[in-house]
Amino acid sequence: MGTLNLPRTVSVLGSTGSIGMSTLELFELAGVEVEIFALTAGRNAARLAEQALRWRPQVAVIEDEAALPELRERLQGSGIRTAAGAQAVTDVAAAEVQWVMSAIVGFAGLAPTLAAAKAGAIVALANKESLVCAGPSLLRTAKLAGGAVIPVDSEHSAIFQVLDPALAGQVSRLILTSSGGPFRDATHAQMAAATREQALAHPNFSMGAKISIDSATMMNKGLEVIEAAYLFAMPPERIEVLVHPQQIIHSLVEYADGSTLAQLGPPDMRPPIACAFAWPDRLPWPAPRLDLVTAGPLTFQHPDPQRFPSLSIAKQALARGGRAPAAMNAANERAVAAFLDRRIRFLDIPNVVAETLERMDRAATPAVLDNDPVESARNTDAEARRVADEVVIGLAAA
Ligand code: NAD
Ligand code: MG
Repeated sequence: MGTLNLPRTVSVLGSTGSIGMSTLELFELAGVEVEIFALTAGRNAARLAEQALRWRPQVAVIEDEAALPELRERLQGSGIRTAAGAQAVTDVAAAEVQWVMSAIVGFAGLAPTLAAAKAGAIVALANKESLVCAGPSLLRTAKLAGGAVIPVDSEHSAIFQVLDPALAGQVSRLILTSSGGPFRDATHAQMAAATREQALAHPNFSMGAKISIDSATMMNKGLEVIEAAYLFAMPPERIEVLVHPQQIIHSLVEYADGSTLAQLGPPDMRPPIACAFAWPDRLPWPAPRLDLVTAGPLTFQHPDPQRFPSLSIAKQALARGGRAPAAMNAANERAVAAFLDRRIRFLDIPNVVAETLERMDRAATPAVLDNDPVESARNTDAEARRVADEVVIGLAAA
């Protein structure tokens, strides 16, 4: 690997999650020599400590302060520093390293991701919620600091790999593919009665709980439409979604002359992580290879707008702009949490999001005169969470 120009100093935010673990696994399989500055987690002290003892970061940070004693005890005598709390996660994200994996789930990822961007790191972005809530300022921050945001979300990695930025003005459509989730072929009645376990059972991937529910409602694809609009400066009407159950084609770019370019690979998050790590080089590792003969027929269908209203809710929020995407994201996080707690039904999730956006619109709060975009995203996030919780309570009482 001597000739490749790979990052040497890295941090992994959200290292105990699905993407975080895949990142460390990829480092291992590729045999890259990285010095890890920070590993961070939400509350799984046991897994974080185990990773820290293997990877020897300078610091291991746990967001949940109640888990700090356990983390300390497990790392006693290792020489690895420990810290706890949301601010500590953001503080270590701001340290100077060449590459940061942003793999915290939800709005909680925004401040650390921005801190990493501000410090000029190459940010490998899995945390799509931070783009949805503050896309333009995140991208501007990275650019000003001389860093970059490289998407890890497989669809956006696909587009990133085939879209020539010099030709962005000559793109007629971006086509994001979607597995369709566990309810792709379910009836409305089946979805109305869907249990937590059924909704968590993604057909092709083992992912965190939140994105698994987002895949089941297809809000995941809604978030991804917004993510694509910001990342590739594309108007919403030029972004389409196609259901592609085999998840072999990860997305497509159609140019004005009618030529369409696609990126293919087995359904596996490690190749997009490898791409974001080595870009513009290509990381050699024992990757599972795509075998088109055994992959079988590739099929496509349009998403059903009746069963998956989240897609159009997201497109409307994007078109409305301003604080609507951040409000939508917050309402969705609360609705998903309520469903996982069995407080609302599956098909209530998009209703909570739509109703929250409507109530926030009706409240006609004066435009926040705030030139700090993060502070304004935070205010919107907090307000939308409060409204969404009210809607959830109303539904649960009904
Ligand atoms: P996950 O739930 O498995 O992991 C989330 C990580 O964030 C864990 O390390 C957790 O400890 C940490 N965390 C949770 N809450 C936190 C908080 N409040 N503060 C600090 N850390 C916190 O989720 P995941 O599936 O790995 O997804 C991570 C992100 O990547 C999400 O934004 C998701 O949409 C995106 N993503 C995931 C996949 C996938 O295949 N899993 C694919 C594309 C994009
Ligand atoms: Mg995706």
